[in-house]
Amino acid sequence: MPRMNRVDNRNFSIKQLLEISACTNCRICAEVCPAVSASLDGELSAIHRIKGLNRILKSRIGLFRKLLRGRGLSDEMLKHFSETVFRCTLCGNCQEICPVGIHLRDLWLSLRQDMVHSGFYPKKIDRVRDNLEESHNVFAEDNEERADWVEDIREAPEHGYIKDKAEIVYFTGCVAAYFPLAQKIPIALAQILDRSGVDFTLLGEDEWCCGFPLFGAGLGDHFQQFVDHNLGAIRKKGAKEVVFACPSCYQVWRDYYPDEFAISHASQFLLGLVKENRIPFKNLPLTVTYHDPCDLGRGAKVFDPPRELIQSIPGVKLVELPNNREKCNCCGGGGNLEMIDKKLSSEIARQKIEEVIGTGAQAVVTSCQQCVRTMLTHVKRNKVPIEVMDITQLIHRALGD
Ligand code: SF4
Ligand code: SF4
Repeated sequence: MPRMNRVDNRNFSIKQLLEISACTNCRICAEVCPAVSASLDGELSAIHRIKGLNRILKSRIGLFRKLLRGRGLSDEMLKHFSETVFRCTLCGNCQEICPVGIHLRDLWLSLRQDMVHSGFYPKKIDRVRDNLEESHNVFAEDNEERADWVEDIREAPEHGYIKDKAEIVYFTGCVAAYFPLAQKIPIALAQILDRSGVDFTLLGEDEWCCGFPLFGAGLGDHFQQFVDHNLGAIRKKGAKEVVFACPSCYQVWRDYYPDEFAISHASQFLLGLVKENRIPFKNLPLTVTYHDPCDLGRGAKVFDPPRELIQSIPGVKLVELPNNREKCNCCGGGGNLEMIDKKLSSEIARQKIEEVIGTGAQAVVTSCQQCVRTMLTHVKRNKVPIEVMDITQLIHRALGD
């Protein structure tokens, strides 16, 4: 890997540098890390990463640089360290449990950016940047085909849910737009919104990736063009609100986009429609458990709306996972891990599905296209007799007359 010039500590805020020094070496973060439990490799833990980061930071400043000269921080070590940095789902479980309150998830994002600036990062990361710059979606697909899933809806309106003007924009996100196993989510949500009389539109080919994969890859420098483009596309529609079924789109919008439009996650938006009696339900006898997506649960603290929504359907019984809400275990699909280490991502998904099976539920419901994709891939590949669905699919199935 080429070594680049940017080897100072400017990727970290003063607050982050102070927080790092507060680590007490308690090791609790390693106990809750899905990457550690799935790989049995302690090098993937937060504590190991903090120690490595401390050495790197010190090696860049005055006296310590002299002290460390000749021992450690070789290119080999940095290369190995960077591989551990990217073998993480960014699930935030370590941050949730850290007793001294280190904002570890944010720290991992800064660390990834630092690794990219230093030139020590997995080459596969370049693919994220290239795909997004060339095609504006993470899969390098033709962006004109972004709303092609509408063709799978029987009796879709002639405008294909792409109107010139509308009050609400449904921002689909790359995974739901292109990945066949996840396309049932926008198909379900568009039909529910339509049935409830919501004035909404898609952006179609004018929707670009929200930009979250860039942050996850340490490529935040390339983010702004995606913000500018998406904001412009929504302004043209005259919309007041943007709805997301993808927690990562929702979170990146909340944290990094200007506060110009009202935003809501689909679980919140649909609950509002239920409370206004705009969604008629039939009885649906089904026992389900609920998986809190990391970015919606721990990230955005949206825990109750999905549960209220599930419990509003007559006949549906909700049983909780042993680890739920803030403690919910990751599905293995976050942090670009699937691209960096597919085997590790699959093993985390296997552990997740084991926990789901233990509840005795007939189906696991979540509120995230990436969680659906990761869990469903495992279930299908291994013929596990359990249904995996997004909350929009559950609501769609329960629609009455
Ligand atoms: S964010 Fe999740 S996967 Fe990454 S180190 Fe923390 S607990 Fe482990
Ligand atoms: S939980 Fe926090 S304080 Fe404890 S070892 Fe991990 S990072 Fe350090």
